[in-house]
Amino acid sequence: MRGLRFVFLLVGIGVATGLFWASYAYFKAQDLEAAAARLTLYRSTLQAELQNFAHLPFLLSLDPVVAETLNGGPTARLDARLARFAQSAGIDAIYLMDSDGLTISASNARTDQSFVGQNYGFRPYFQAALKGELGEFYGIGATTGVPGYFFAMAVRAGGETPRGVIAIKLDLSDLQANWQASGARILLSNADGVVLLASDPSWRYRTLNPLDGAQRARIVAARQFGKEPLSNLDWSPDQRSQTALMGGTRFLYLSTGDLPNSWSLHLLSPDDRAVTRAWLVTGALVLLSGVLFSAVQLRRVRRIGAALKRSESEEAQLRAANARLAVEIEERRLAEQSLTRTQAELERAGRLAALGTLASSVTHELGQPIAAMRNQLAAAEISQGPTPLSDKMQGLVARMENITRQLKFFSRKGRDQFEPVDLRSVMSDALELLAPSFEGREVELKVDLGGPEILVEGNRMRLEQVMTNLVRNALDALDDAPRREIEIAFGQEAEDDKVWFEVSDTGHGLGNRSFEELREPFTTTRESGKGMGLGLTISAGIVADHSGTMTAQNSAMGGASFRVSLPHYKEATA
Ligand code: ADP
Repeated sequence: MRGLRFVFLLVGIGVATGLFWASYAYFKAQDLEAAAARLTLYRSTLQAELQNFAHLPFLLSLDPVVAETLNGGPTARLDARLARFAQSAGIDAIYLMDSDGLTISASNARTDQSFVGQNYGFRPYFQAALKGELGEFYGIGATTGVPGYFFAMAVRAGGETPRGVIAIKLDLSDLQANWQASGARILLSNADGVVLLASDPSWRYRTLNPLDGAQRARIVAARQFGKEPLSNLDWSPDQRSQTALMGGTRFLYLSTGDLPNSWSLHLLSPDDRAVTRAWLVTGALVLLSGVLFSAVQLRRVRRIGAALKRSESEEAQLRAANARLAVEIEERRLAEQSLTRTQAELERAGRLAALGTLASSVTHELGQPIAAMRNQLAAAEISQGPTPLSDKMQGLVARMENITRQLKFFSRKGRDQFEPVDLRSVMSDALELLAPSFEGREVELKVDLGGPEILVEGNRMRLEQVMTNLVRNALDALDDAPRREIEIAFGQEAEDDKVWFEVSDTGHGLGNRSFEELREPFTTTRESGKGMGLGLTISAGIVADHSGTMTAQNSAMGGASFRVSLPHYKEATA
């Protein structure tokens, strides 16, 4: 990821650099085009300035006063005439030389810097004119020290050979002043590369290229630049890139040579405008792409944020669906449990119904013979007195009666009479009934029968039967136990509005059999003849008739503990 960022950064820098150079090239081309137009303008102005006066020496050479003066006439008249011409044409000086180069008349004859009496035979323009050509020359005035442009023409004065030379000197300093005023950086150089005129005066009389010995000798002979040292200009042009370094600053550079005397005009225009514009364009585009990039990033971040929110809400929905599913699963599990319970209840009800049918026929069929046996025994005892056989028979008859009594419970029809009864008082009756069973067993009984009333709505006889069954079972369980205790407790479950009683013992306990198993009819661990396995079945049935529940577990005392819970009866609410 970091490597990718680095590549992006490099590509960005590359693109920005390319952009900078492309826009720089564009703006530079524009600036060069404008500079070329300006250079053409400067060149035409210069050409016009020179050409305006190119024909004046020829016209003056035909002037009769000039010829007259040259033929020995008085000079004063020509001096005045030349002064008038010079003034009206705006020319620096007009002067007439004889064939040796000695000045015999001049427009400035009456001034301190009069040319009259001076010999200019050494000047190239004089020599060219004597040959019959138009003499042209730029140089510093030998007399005045003022630079100027000279035009010269031979004066024949009616003869075949030239008798003299008429010359004019133009002051080009106005041109230079104009350049300066325009703010342009411009310079004019001659064929030797010497700067003749320049917008910056310090460039004047510097050379664009170093001069060789012959060039210097020629210049000295013509006294062209007086005592100027003609040192090199501090610049380095580069024609290929059209730029030049001038005094350490870079400029756009254009030159033209289409001028008289092989002169050339050089224009330097500032480069920093193109550079600044290129920077601006690059900066603007970099900024724009930065803004675009930020906008794209922002959109991406927003999209990711929205997706995150969506997935969060989907996750929440999923979690809610999961929770609903878990609830449904739990409900289904409970329903299945309750179904299983109901099925078990149904099976038990079916078995009890069958037991009821069986019980009623057995009790009915056995009732008569048992009653007959008891009567026979009573009659025999009356007539013969009690014998060991009759005692034994009495015991067997009692056991049979006991069995039919228990079975009768299953064959009974209808509901018993219900009334408010106190559990402690019922327990008290049950214990009284069982008192003979406690005798000789050395069992410690813990029970608090003196507490407040615990009322339930029920049938006293039936509840007594339940209590009797539970206490008798506890007594039986203690038979071989080293510790012989029975504890009977009562209580109230405030929250469920229920009351309970509990019979716990220190007997052999339930082992790993559940109450559900033990309450099944005919489930017994006793030896044959001692129990039928109907006690808990009957008790659980009675408790159910009272809308109560019965539970059993191995008790903390070491034996078993049976608890019966029943709805609390309150007189106030009844
Ligand atoms: P029975 O007393 O005729 O066997 P019950 O229905 O009263 O029939 O009891 C069924 C069985 O439950 C008993 O055989 C005995 O194994 C067990 N049982 C009942 N009460 C207790 C108790 N207090 N301690 C241990 N086992 C008990």
